This record gives sequence, structure tokens and C-alpha cells, in this order.
Amino acid sequence: MRQKHEVVSYLTQTEIGPWGDYLEQVDRVAPFLGSLSRWIETLKRPKRILVVDVPIERDDGTIAHFEGYRVQHNTSRGPGKGGVRFHQDVTLSEVMALSAWMTVKNAAVNVPYGGAKGGIRVDPRTLSQGELQRVTRRYTSEINIIIGPNKDIPAPDVNTNERIMAWMMDTYSMNQGSTATGVVTGKPISLGGSLGRHEATGRGVFVVGCEAAARRGIDIRGARVAVQGFGNVGGVAARLFAEAGARIVAIQDHAGTLMRESGIDVNELEWHVAEHGSVAGYRNAEFITDRDQFWETACDILIPAALEQQITKDNAGVIRAKIILEGANGPTTPAADDILHDKGVLVVPDVIANAGGVTVSYFEWVQDFSSFFWSEDEINQRLTRIMQEAFRSVSKIAEERGVSLRTAAFIVACTRVLQARELRGLYP
Ligand code: NAD
Repeated sequence: MRQKHEVVSYLTQTEIGPWGDYLEQVDRVAPFLGSLSRWIETLKRPKRILVVDVPIERDDGTIAHFEGYRVQHNTSRGPGKGGVRFHQDVTLSEVMALSAWMTVKNAAVNVPYGGAKGGIRVDPRTLSQGELQRVTRRYTSEINIIIGPNKDIPAPDVNTNERIMAWMMDTYSMNQGSTATGVVTGKPISLGGSLGRHEATGRGVFVVGCEAAARRGIDIRGARVAVQGFGNVGGVAARLFAEAGARIVAIQDHAGTLMRESGIDVNELEWHVAEHGSVAGYRNAEFITDRDQFWETACDILIPAALEQQITKDNAGVIRAKIILEGANGPTTPAADDILHDKGVLVVPDVIANAGGVTVSYFEWVQDFSSFFWSEDEINQRLTRIMQEAFRSVSKIAEERGVSLRTAAFIVACTRVLQARELRGLYP
């Protein structure tokens, strides 16, 4: 008798997910693009989608298959650029949206890249180190045909890190027959990584946070900050805000929420998470399992730095923050955006707020090409200048046009992408 097979998940994804949010954001910017709007369909269609099977032999001798994706949304302004996510809930819709947000982000801060993103539908916590390496290498080998220092340059994202980037760089290089450090960014320093890259996204969130706070008349010293996600982005952002005198009153990760009105000791918590894998079990703050309570935290600044679609029409109403800094990509749905706008909350959109990571990735790529490495001070200064300029120019457009910072950032970015599209013309 024929066995009933499980259909691979990308074929059963009927819901439109984060890609739907992105399409709605593009529709909102269309009226502001003038004659360039005739090219708008370009933004609504990824240039290239690659879905790959990633089989590995597990430590116990069984064979496991995972689904991998690499989506190149747009390459009008340069090679594709964007992270790789390892997560059990990764979907094609999600990777498509993340790749499109990279196109917008790279154009918003004016780095010479298009947008791309990748992912594997796997929970890395269920893999041994050997299995994780085999998954990474097989995935890299499968997407090898479309990546490269001049084609598409992956980087870390949720659950991926420097070590995984080192394996990706090595796998690509082995396939090419020569070492190609510029194929990924976010590498270890000893393999052509850049000083400051590890902290860059969180640092960028902090820099635009200071700009936004000044605009709202909030003093960072003593400001109350709540952070969702205590990984690369949320952890660094929390630490920099704490160092500047802010009180980190709530931190949520996948395991639960910590609350402490007098401020959580971020350094101590970093040690705890490094040892135990999550905030659970940390004793010097109240641990709350009801996840929804986090959104009601009384705070000045809220930093979603975990996953997309966290702030929705169902919880936007209870948010008490004056400023939201989107460390994560796509954390706020368009319906929630409208509610927050009506409440007077200043939302600094992902495509500006978390652009520090790709900005220093750009520095890393330039350093790899020239084999000449910059000091950390130089990198942080350049990063700060780019982030401040991006925030200020987008704020100016928001004021002139009477639109949100998100729509203003999309106006700047989509104009740059579509101008490039028009200047290049359609091939053939
Ligand atoms: P990470 O893997 O280092 O950390 C993710 C954090 O989110 C962890 O603390 C995890 O526990 C938490 N988390 C996961 N699921 C959660 C849930 N359901 N509720 C609450 N917390 C949850 O990942 P990261 O690199 O910090 O990325 C976080 C976000 O920032 C993602 O949206 C990513 O796309 C975005 N981003 C990352 C970078 C970068 O350079 N790493 C750059 C730009 C944007």
C-alpha cells in the first residue's frame, strides 16, 4: 500500500504571513513615489527563490531532512545581502519578507547592496555540535550556486553566529578552491571578521534610540526600558542603555519574562544566559510566565528584538511606551502601526533601527576586499554617523510629508531602489 507522505511545508503554507505585512507597507508608500510608481511591482516580487533539501546523518545513524531557503529579493543596487536564520518555525513567507526588508534597509542607509535572506526550518537546540555543522555545511553547499562575494553575502540572524559563519565561509571556499572571506559577514575576527560587528546591531539601536529620545524630550539617564529578546540584538542594546544610565525594567526571551522596577543587572543576566541558555532561573528579578504581561510594562522605551509579528492589533492598545525601537525585523504589523500612531507612540522602524548590523557588515566586506582592517573606534564612529544621518533624514521627510517614520524610510529607500531599476532598464 502506498504510504501517505508529509508534504514539504513550503507547499502547504497557505497563510501569507509576514510577506503580507511587507506588501501592505509597499502599498502605503506607493502614492509617494511619483512616476517611479510604475516600477512598484518590482518590489512585490522576489527576484529569485531557492528552496533546498538539507539531509544529514544524525549522530545515532538515522537520516534527517530539513528545508532550507535563500531568497534574493532585489539586486538593483548591488549584490544580495542578508542573514541566515535557523528556527523551527521558519517559513518561505517569512524569508521572503525578511529578504524584502533587507532591500529596503540597505537602501534606507545607502549601503550598496540589494536584499536577500536565508533560513533553515530547524531547531538548532535539538542538534549536537557535529549535526549543526553538517546542517550548516550541506545548506551552504546547496545554496553555493547563488551566493558569493559579488553575488549574495549571508550573515548571522536568529540562532546563527560567528562559528556558523566560519563553517559557511569554509564550505563555500572548499567548493571554490580558494579562500573567499568576503562570502559571509559576521565572521570571527581571526577569519576576516570586523571589530565591532558583534555589537553593531545593538549599538545602532542604541544610537537611534538616543536620537529618538532627544526628539521626545526623554533623558536616557533614568529612562525605563523594556526589551523583548536577549540575544545578539536585544542583549547588546540592553547593556548599552544600562551603561548610559537607563533602567532595564523588563526583559523577555523565549522562556519567559523578567521584571524589576529598580532595573535588571544586564551584565549578571548575560552570564546567566550564557550558562543556562535562557533567562529562566535568574534570581535577581521577578520571573513571570504570562507572556502577555510584558507588553503592559510601564516604560519609556520598548525594544522588540526577537521575532516578527509580535506587536499586533491585539496588544498594541496596551503598550505604554513613548518610543518603540524595532531591533527585530518586522515586529509590528501594519494594523498595530495604525493603533500606535493614533496613541502618539514614536515607532522607529526596523529598516532604520536595526540597520547597524548590515552597516558594519558592509565595513567588514570592504575590509575583506582591501585586506586592510580598521580600528574599533573608527568603525563605531562611522557607524554612529551613518545611523544618526539616516534617522535625521528620515525624520525630516516624515515631518515634511506628514507620514510615519516607517513610511518615510520606505519613501527614501524605495525611491533609491526604483531609480536604480529605471536607470538600469529592463533586460533584454
Ligand atoms: P538571537 O538568536 O541572538 O536572539 C534571539 C532572542 O529572541 C533570544 O533571546 C530568544 O530567546 C528570543 N526569542 C525567541 N523567540 C522568542 C519569543 N517567542 N518571545 C520572546 N523572545 C523570543 O537573534 P538576534 O540576532 O538577536 O536577532 C533578533 C532579531 O533581530 C531578529 O528579528 C533578527 O532578524 C533581527 N536582526 C538581527 C541582526 C543581527 O545582526 N543579528 C541584524 C538586524 C536585525
